[in-house]
Amino acid sequence: MQENEKRTELNDLGEFGLISHLTDKIKPNNSSTKKGIGDDAAILNYGDRDIVVTTDMLVEGIHFDMIFTPLKHLGYKSIVVNLSDIYAMNAQPRQVTVSIAISSKYSVEAIKEIYEGMELACNYYGVDLVGGDTTSSLSGLVISVTAIGEIEENKAVYRSGAKDGDLIVVSGDLGGAYIGLMLLQREKEVWKTSPTIQPDLDGNDYILSRQLKPEARKDIIELLIKMELTPSSMIDVSDGIASEVKHLCKASGTGCNLYEEKLPIDPQTYQTARDFNLDPTVCALNGGEDYELLFTVPQADYDKIKGNPHLTVIGHMTNIESGTNFISTGGSVMPLTAQGWDSFGKTNEES
Ligand code: ADP
Ligand code: MG
Repeated sequence: MQENEKRTELNDLGEFGLISHLTDKIKPNNSSTKKGIGDDAAILNYGDRDIVVTTDMLVEGIHFDMIFTPLKHLGYKSIVVNLSDIYAMNAQPRQVTVSIAISSKYSVEAIKEIYEGMELACNYYGVDLVGGDTTSSLSGLVISVTAIGEIEENKAVYRSGAKDGDLIVVSGDLGGAYIGLMLLQREKEVWKTSPTIQPDLDGNDYILSRQLKPEARKDIIELLIKMELTPSSMIDVSDGIASEVKHLCKASGTGCNLYEEKLPIDPQTYQTARDFNLDPTVCALNGGEDYELLFTVPQADYDKIKGNPHLTVIGHMTNIESGTNFISTGGSVMPLTAQGWDSFGKTNEES
């Protein structure tokens, strides 16, 4: 490096800051590229079908801890997190490719187990594993999956279609995967100091499965079709709902009001958060990896979703001037801040 050359730390930009810094000048060369960087997946057009492509990487020590991650679950999860981004475009996943970098501490049997989990997920979601790449790694295990899906031309749902007044809806419940992780990390610490003590995980099946074996919401995409409901915008919840709502607002040019009292939190998540002296609301807002779908619909569609046990209206979009607001159960209005998950240790709020 030259003496006077400026050096910027990765931390100064954060994950989202880095992505835009690297990619904001990239322009497509092909008319078949309908949507490039910036949504849950890219959209490519070939005739009357749009092709949806997304990729996600899981890195040992960053995204998973081998001490408490069963290999089969890891394989399953590595497929699921990619399919979630395909569903977030309202599309159907069809194929995946899998690339792995393996360090010598892994046996053939261990890698085979990861693949069994992948196959399980592929069969459950009806996708085909059609290729990949295999190489060695000096440190840990890296798994990179690319998923390919399809949708009828012009039917994809982007992050950018929300309008002032649209209802903000989320599937399932929030914060469970994060609390499951807290529990696993606590038991890991106990185990490190007293290896003879058995982990105390009983009665926590729900939050553990949220962390270790998440599912992508294929069923919600099917439900939307059945209800004849097309979201105006959609994203999957991988980084925490606060961060994702802000992505929808930014892409759509809207503000929002999000209500604390509306946030769907499972009783086990709630109680375990309390046991950890954590605020369940903060866990629901900022805990990552729930892999639920977050979408907006026009107010006129309220009757279609009212009373559906899988869907909760958590707020509504406003005009951009009103900003992104969080309204506490007590009624105080504060700016919605996203401390979502970021590989570079920076809050999404700052980047
Ligand atoms: P998600 O959480 O849905 O996986 P990300 O926040 O990882 O989305 O990525 C946001 C957008 O930036 C996506 O369109 C993704 O394809 C793109 N992106 C992320 N990293 C890179 C990169 N290194 N080079 C090019 N595009 C990237
Ligand atoms: Mg996504």
